[in-house]
Amino acid sequence: MSDDLKSGRIVIVGASLAGLRAAETLRDEGFVGQLTMVGEERLPPYDRPPLSKQVLLGRVRAEETRLPRRREVDAQWKLGVRATGVDPIDQCVVLANGEELPFDRLLIATGTRARPWPKAEEAALEGVFTLRTAEDAAALAERLDAGPRRVLVIGAGFTGSEIASACRERGLAVTVAERGPAPLIGALGGAFGAFAAKLQLAHGVDLRCGVTVTALNGRDGRLTGAEFSDGSRIEADIAVVALGAVRNTEWLADSGLAAGPRGLACDAGCRAFNMYGIVTDNVFVAGDVARFPHPLFEYQLLSLEHWGNAVAQAEVAAHNMVNPGPQRRPHLSVPAFWSSQFGLNIKSVGVPTFSDHVVIAQGSVEERRLVAVYGYRGRITAAVSVNRAKWLEHYQRLIETAAPFPPEWDGVEPPVSRTPVPSDVPDPKVLSHGPTVALTGHLPDRRLTLKHWGG
Ligand SMILES: Cc1cc2nc3c(=O)[nH]c(=O)nc-3n(C[C@H](O)[C@H](O)[C@H](O)COP(=O)(O)OP(=O)(O)OC[C@H]3O[C@@H](n4cnc5c(N)ncnc54)[C@H](O)[C@@H]3O)c2cc1C
Repeated sequence: MSDDLKSGRIVIVGASLAGLRAAETLRDEGFVGQLTMVGEERLPPYDRPPLSKQVLLGRVRAEETRLPRRREVDAQWKLGVRATGVDPIDQCVVLANGEELPFDRLLIATGTRARPWPKAEEAALEGVFTLRTAEDAAALAERLDAGPRRVLVIGAGFTGSEIASACRERGLAVTVAERGPAPLIGALGGAFGAFAAKLQLAHGVDLRCGVTVTALNGRDGRLTGAEFSDGSRIEADIAVVALGAVRNTEWLADSGLAAGPRGLACDAGCRAFNMYGIVTDNVFVAGDVARFPHPLFEYQLLSLEHWGNAVAQAEVAAHNMVNPGPQRRPHLSVPAFWSSQFGLNIKSVGVPTFSDHVVIAQGSVEERRLVAVYGYRGRITAAVSVNRAKWLEHYQRLIETAAPFPPEWDGVEPPVSRTPVPSDVPDPKVLSHGPTVALTGHLPDRRLTLKHWGG
């Protein structure tokens, strides 16, 4: 049985971070069979975090963000072609060019795409951008080089805030519009959001919270400005729509898999569920497109848009694809991500939105050096550092062991106040951007049926 798993045909759909790291792991684990990688983008796998940071600052060109290879993967690469479906009966992936790829095991790593501006005519105006791909970043960086008079950023999640930061570092005038009460609250809660708002204002961002953009105006096909729900308007030659991500699952609609707007659900071993909630044993999932249960977060299904999760989950998925039951591993790593903006290095471990209270355990907002620790029902569930990343390992251990909240004072640099305050995690519906971490139950309004059962 174990030898069989090391051979046969494996297809990976999604040739980006999770797909590449899975392919490398498969070969590391001794898979000698046929490996096919399918990717909609024409470019070989590249890294996305620099796109909203170094690339927008003009320090790195978008085409220089190629992911380093850990090893040769000896795969057949099918780039620039979209997978349009999975036939669960015949076990094959169908491509947009009509080709069919039979598989013994399949890994789905199709990630997410940028949520577009909802009004197609306005989205088509020259000067309106989203930022998800290297192509997007190259086009936006070029327009920033040209010195626009004002950039409008719609949505103040991590991507929107990083874009605003890069623009200010370039000396460009920036307006940020956010429907929620502060930047970053979708991922870090209201207490941290208040800090993020102060930071943006101190860096000269025209920050407008509690408003929505009601119209993008244009003349002769070019963006000229925007109107807001409070009746105000601005002139702008660039608008970056940073409304969060949409999971690439539509192509799985007839696959019989548990795929929906919140991702493709799987077990802790990365095996996809079918639509009845029964675990498959030949379809695996990893990266931003996955929803998986995590014991630290009450087994709720977790959807993450974190670089580190894509790598760790891809490695576990690949291991489990080529190893028999008793040797299989769970994907249990503690979620972690980083962001750099407005001169600060923000890092997080755990799930800050899985919290009811937060306390500044070290440092202070005034110093812009701090560790905020989040708790849920008296145990530590997350920690976020600002320019104090070395402490996160310590808090990660506390999260893993469900240590009591608030944490004991560690004796180093006492905080200004040790009183926890509500973490004020908003209902995602009040945000203009989708949060990068979501704990998801099932969607009661969605009834799944396999329309073409058996063809
Ligand atoms: C601008 C930006 C900045 C970021 N910064 C950070 C950061 O600072 N820290 C952090 O932790 N994370 C960050 N992230 C998130 C991180 O990049 C993602 O978590 C990571 O890219 C997820 O990898 P993935 O392989 O799961 O999905 P993706 O990178 O989304 O790749 C999925 C691939 O599948 C392809 N695909 C989709 N559908 C199909 C189909 N039907 N057929 C074939 N191919 C398909 C897509 O074209 C894409 O190439 C950032 C993301 C962006 C966009």
